[in-house]
Amino acid sequence: MNLIKKIEDHKTLELLKAANEITLQEHGGTLTLERAIFLSWWCDKGDCAFCYMSSQKSRISDPARARRNVQSILAEAELVRRIGWNVEFLSGGYGSFTTSEIKNISQRIYDITGKPVWLNVGITRELEEYGEEIRGITGAVETANPDLHKRICPSKPLEDIEVMLDTAGELGFKKAITIILGLGETPEDLKYLFDLIGDLGINRVIFYSLNPHKDTPYENFSQPASLYYAGMMAATRIKFPELEIIAGTWIDNLANIGPLILSGANGLTKFPLFKMFGTSHGRRVEEEVKWAGRKLKGTFTDMDRLSNGENISPEVEPFIKRYIDKCLRNK
Ligand code: SF4
Repeated sequence: MNLIKKIEDHKTLELLKAANEITLQEHGGTLTLERAIFLSWWCDKGDCAFCYMSSQKSRISDPARARRNVQSILAEAELVRRIGWNVEFLSGGYGSFTTSEIKNISQRIYDITGKPVWLNVGITRELEEYGEEIRGITGAVETANPDLHKRICPSKPLEDIEVMLDTAGELGFKKAITIILGLGETPEDLKYLFDLIGDLGINRVIFYSLNPHKDTPYENFSQPASLYYAGMMAATRIKFPELEIIAGTWIDNLANIGPLILSGANGLTKFPLFKMFGTSHGRRVEEEVKWAGRKLKGTFTDMDRLSNGENISPEVEPFIKRYIDKCLRNK
């Protein structure tokens, strides 16, 4: 099947059908909910054209001020565990935490969730410091077309990401990349993505759709069309049946979820968890999953599960309470 031509010829429905069958056969019918846990609101690159951090840099001049309180990070991990979600990865802008600090936080999250952590903390040459607390390393590729990449992410060269992921593989870590659709790429660019996945032995791809931020060059762009997003993801699923695929969608685009599941998603991400949990938006996600014929691992609505859990430590408890109170206020 010429996958790129199918998208260009608007035969997305055929791709979805094939992708859905492959997914059910290779991965079964369970779908996960994923939560990226952020370390900080700082990035010393700050020049990726689409990124909120690139508009933020001018406002926050001190990386120390942008660091999250570690107890709050751990509280989030505990709540994610309680509701049966996965920590998608530990993420943060460049230059806010040292490698040993990230290692320590990862170890504590591993202790809480029982699962080693994926990292998405920028291009680093210090992977050897990590151990059993880390499951895999994520390269924030964003777009696999090399020319587009150079223009959009001038400070994180594709070659450096590739070297990092190669090293990650040699050290025994799994490998993931992030891809944003809607940056100006075309279906033709899937050839770059497929080469990258194949050459580097990528285990997991996280797709996002562009969220146009104010004060960035993309502020007047629209999010990519739902069937374009679905077609690009379905083609990737068909090409790589064993790949783990996570799909990101936004609170204003929940109707995307059904088509994205049929396109081969194993998990969903990018939700403002504490704003949506237990609300009609959370219920909507559960309904989307149900009507796509999948069983949801975890919950987006069960307040009892959110509230009941172990007391991690006296320092973490106030943060847990604060997050739960936020959910209750939004109900
Ligand atoms: S490196 Fe990451 S956090 Fe920094 S500007 Fe680029 S995308 Fe944003």
